Amino acid sequence: MRVRHAAVLGRIAAAARACGRDPAGVGLLAVSKTFDAGAVLALADCGQRDFGENYVQEALAKRTEVGDRWRLRPARRPEQLDPPVWHFIGPLQSNKTRPIAETFDWVHSVDREKVARRLSEQRPASLAPLQVCIQVDVSGEATKSGCAPEDVPALARIIAGLPRLRLRGLMAIPAPADDPVLQRAQFARVREVFERLLDEGLPVDTLSMGMSADLEAAIAEGATIVRVGTAVFGERPKKEAVS
Ligand SMILES: *Cc1c(COP(=O)(O)O)cnc(C)c1O
Repeated sequence: MRVRHAAVLGRIAAAARACGRDPAGVGLLAVSKTFDAGAVLALADCGQRDFGENYVQEALAKRTEVGDRWRLRPARRPEQLDPPVWHFIGPLQSNKTRPIAETFDWVHSVDREKVARRLSEQRPASLAPLQVCIQVDVSGEATKSGCAPEDVPALARIIAGLPRLRLRGLMAIPAPADDPVLQRAQFARVREVFERLLDEGLPVDTLSMGMSADLEAAIAEGATIVRVGTAVFGERPKKEAVS
């Protein structure tokens, strides 16, 4: 795992340099869905801080176990002292927002007003505001999740006004494409929506896009967070858990 993690960090740095960007401007979100608490702790020992989860039940159990074992660990190097930061990146059902609002640090997949309002209402006052990205659907595949690009600015203004949320930017999961030119074209559409938010004066700083197969194209189009599972942890079991 240490070797794969270092290789992914190397890919990110090379992709950033190739387009004249500072590698420090691209963060790695390690997508730990289907992998257990032991895998998360092992990667945390490699210095990885941010972890992404898709399924609520799986994430809650894992988060509890990681937290318990974290407290019992022997002292580590200073850069490993901070506990993991948890990002929810899966589809959101409006009747399942509460545990997410109560336990996650970030949510990347907000795509409608109802979900945003619930997350804000349910975010405990004792915690920092929930860091939020709007999931934008640039593939136009009529998939279940993702806000249509033309509806993003209105949703962004609503989220920016909610007291317990902090709008950070956009997230996208484009349709898989083998051709880097097609990959870049889709990420470019996300960047255009992002630039529109900047033009409107919205305080966004995050573009969450790019996975194991297309992170280079995403970085070339401005990604600030790449969400990588397979390339860090290895192949997932074929049948994924359901939430
Ligand atoms: C699983 C998943 C990833 C990681 O995918 P890999 O191809 O394994 O890198 C990234 N983002 C989301 C939303 C995912 O569900």
